[in-house]
Amino acid sequence: MAKIKRIGVLTSGGDAPGMNAAIRAVTRMAIYHGLEVYGIRSGYHGMINDQIKKLESSHVSNIIQRGGTILKTARSAEFRTVEGRSQAFVNLQKHKIDALVIIGGDGSLTGARLFSDEHDIPCVGIPGTIDNDLFGTDYTIGYDTAINTVVEAVDKIRDTASAHNRLFFVEVMGRDAGFIALRSGIACGAEAILVPERDTPYPKLKKYLETGFVNKKTSGIVIVAEGEHQGGAYEIANKVQEDFSQYDVKVTVLGHIQRGGSPSAYDRVTASHMGAAAVDALLDDQKSVMIGIVNNKIVHVPFNKTIKAHKGLNEELLKISEILSI
Ligand code: ATP
Repeated sequence: MAKIKRIGVLTSGGDAPGMNAAIRAVTRMAIYHGLEVYGIRSGYHGMINDQIKKLESSHVSNIIQRGGTILKTARSAEFRTVEGRSQAFVNLQKHKIDALVIIGGDGSLTGARLFSDEHDIPCVGIPGTIDNDLFGTDYTIGYDTAINTVVEAVDKIRDTASAHNRLFFVEVMGRDAGFIALRSGIACGAEAILVPERDTPYPKLKKYLETGFVNKKTSGIVIVAEGEHQGGAYEIANKVQEDFSQYDVKVTVLGHIQRGGSPSAYDRVTASHMGAAAVDALLDDQKSVMIGIVNNKIVHVPFNKTIKAHKGLNEELLKISEILSI
């Protein structure tokens, strides 16, 4: 394999706090090794539309603490086509970029896998998504910050819930995965946690609320992942209100605040570690792998594996969450 001289870096898909720390780490690690770095704006969209500029070390100063992504992110329908990906490759060749670091979720890594299969360019992925739903890594960048945001918000909701004896249904992000719901639910001492991975039939939830909330508690918090199967927080809250007319049932949908904010120390360190490891991987002639962290150690996970394999929820934590909410 020819020696790499110029790396392109981009952020793609949903933004996640800590993406900036990853961009900084990739840029500085590459410069440290004598490579040039080019920032590609707006993900694959910018690769197709030639929004590509050289990054110096100073361009990534003072960004480690900032949420969002200085490179912007986007979703690109064109990149899903062979023609779109060919146009992207033409632009990379124009700028003499000979390796890519892609920071994004499973969709972004699926695109990267196709791109590296079709074109002769090594690609390394960094898992950047608040959902933590990528197989092969214990944590993805942004997950820890998102959980902390949920916990901070729910602690406040708990105060008002308790003042009024209210039962709150709090909807958190997670269309296909309940990682945010489970971890934040445990951290908030939620009375129940509803996740897409598990069917919680309504009678079961009702019984649960009867034994826990009605009998002994002055407030109740049910964390609902948005992809949960019973119709979402509003739907379930309506049913519960009909059955528990003595209680004031409320719904809060936390929405996009979960994506924003200054990244936690954990996310900054994870992003720095993974960003540096991505450059190391390229210099070691690795390609088509995602950088993961398992038991605090860097691992290289083939794109195929992380895209196809399913990461399950921690069953032990699920069980614990039920026991601790009695
Ligand atoms: P998040 O998990 O935060 O939503 P993501 O990376 O999964 O992030 P997606 O919108 O699924 O976000 O994917 C980002 C981009 O990756 C898409 O807009 C598209 O350009 C590219 N992509 C996704 N899936 C494919 C695919 N099957 N083929 C080619 N490109 C794809």
